[in-house]
Amino acid sequence: MEQKTFIHHSLSKLHTFGFNHHATRLYVISRLSALEACIQDGLDAPMVLGSGSNIVFTGDYTGHILKNELKGKQVIETQDAYLVTVASGEIWHDFVVWTLTQGIAGLENLAFIPGTVGAAPVQNIGAYGVDLSQFCKSVTYVDLTSGARSTLDQQACRFGYRDSVFKHDLKNQTFIESVTLKLPKKWRPNLTYGTLKHLVSSSDPWEIYHHVGAIRRQKLPDVTALGNAGSFFKNPIISKSHLKKIQQNFPEIPCYPNDHETCKVAAGWIIEACQFKQKTIGRIQVYDKQALVLVNLGDGCSQDLMQLVRLIQQMAWKKFSIQLDPEVRFYAQQSEWTIHDVCN
Ligand SMILES: Cc1cc2nc3c(=O)[nH]c(=O)nc-3n(C[C@H](O)[C@H](O)[C@H](O)COP(=O)(O)OP(=O)(O)OC[C@H]3O[C@@H](n4cnc5c(N)ncnc54)[C@H](O)[C@@H]3O)c2cc1C
Repeated sequence: MEQKTFIHHSLSKLHTFGFNHHATRLYVISRLSALEACIQDGLDAPMVLGSGSNIVFTGDYTGHILKNELKGKQVIETQDAYLVTVASGEIWHDFVVWTLTQGIAGLENLAFIPGTVGAAPVQNIGAYGVDLSQFCKSVTYVDLTSGARSTLDQQACRFGYRDSVFKHDLKNQTFIESVTLKLPKKWRPNLTYGTLKHLVSSSDPWEIYHHVGAIRRQKLPDVTALGNAGSFFKNPIISKSHLKKIQQNFPEIPCYPNDHETCKVAAGWIIEACQFKQKTIGRIQVYDKQALVLVNLGDGCSQDLMQLVRLIQQMAWKKFSIQLDPEVRFYAQQSEWTIHDVCN
């Protein structure tokens, strides 16, 4: 057997919220052959775990956890682009730094996002005006039931805002093995996002990289010091008529165009407007520098987190008739739980 197996293993250091639940059976997958062997032996309610930075374990997980540690990168140079294939267990931020040191630009706006490469297409990671879908050429995955390998091109991934086919038809059914990115040789900085606009004359991706790092450090807590899972809720998409009604009382509400009929509003602003900044339940708190982030002050428990989540959702609904959907995903027992399951 090529994979390491752990029985009743603590999950506290395997997800960034840090709750002290346990995995009944955890397999560390550092080679594809190990994954194939697991599938042949039969997997019971498998879940794939990257760095655990977009999930919360709300209880012990009694199915099989597959901890991804597949490593490797390969670059093919074409006339106008670099095609970079990267194994899913590589750390996303390290990979971004590696591309930049190779002289391959394009991913600088996405630097400092925690997590693995394999999780990046699942929610189509994005920051500062850029998301993965803009560079993703294809994603190769292994089906967790049949063991069959398939490759999806960009279109088949059905990317959307923090969304992809891996959250729908293929939800919790695949182990993403590698991602291929197409990075054009002719680099064009993306400075559309507000706080990057002043870099308009920048011709250096490292300058953008450092700037992004500085903004993120100001707004986001360091997961090694304060447990959190980044933005807890997605920015809600509402109709333009709904926005107009809200603007009658709150003309300052931050909003961004989405499509012809809808727009995206800032979930962090909504939480602040509901007076929830720094609201604390037990040892779980709405972060003082960014209300979209919930933090574990240490020794926090999932029940308190869920109570706070529910209160925020109720208040957002009462005050703005807006439903705040979690971006973070919840796992316990043998499956992914919906917020409704967790709260009832
Ligand atoms: C401080 C902080 C800042 C953040 N900032 C951002 C940001 O700016 N933009 C952004 O988009 N996100 C952000 N996030 C969220 C998070 O970093 C991303 O969602 C990241 O892609 C999660 O990677 P992970 O390896 O930790 O995934 P995990 O949390 O381990 O898993 C997330 C989901 O993906 C599935 N999954 C993971 N790997 C695989 C695989 N190989 N195959 C199939 N399914 C898989 C899991 O089963 C789970 O459902 C932030 C998080 C934190 C803590």
